[in-house]
Amino acid sequence: MSTDNHQCAACGAASASKRCVSCKSVWYCGRDCQVSDWKSHKAKCKAIAADIAQADSHEIHKKEFDKIRTKYGLSTPENAEKIANMLADTGANEGVSAPKFAEMFGMSTTEAVVFLEWIKVGIKFKEETLDTAKKAGFGK
Ligand SMILES: [Zn+2]
Ligand SMILES: [Zn+2]
Repeated sequence: MSTDNHQCAACGAASASKRCVSCKSVWYCGRDCQVSDWKSHKAKCKAIAADIAQADSHEIHKKEFDKIRTKYGLSTPENAEKIANMLADTGANEGVSAPKFAEMFGMSTTEAVVFLEWIKVGIKFKEETLDTAKKAGFGK
């Protein structure tokens, strides 16, 4: 028996022991309560589950990126500069060709794709953050 009791999102009982497997953010007494709450929980559940999935894939992608970066010594000042120049030349939207990048650093095309994708995510993330800041009235 768990000493960790939760409040049921449907009936409010304080002894809920079953958690929604998709979003892991709400608890229920059991299947009946979960089913009765599903209509109102559905949208929120999907949004949370999507967030979790995205965070997970980000985490995996980041690990791959770090592995590649270490394996090919891409964080040395010379290489970092080379990559920065390459990105500046082609422009963030165009992107660097993966085969070309792979050849340049002696890695496989797959590794180059992972590496370049992550850089793109990073750039996009930066833009979105700046955008949000602007909308909130900062950065003027
Ligand atoms: Zn309940
Ligand atoms: Zn859920």
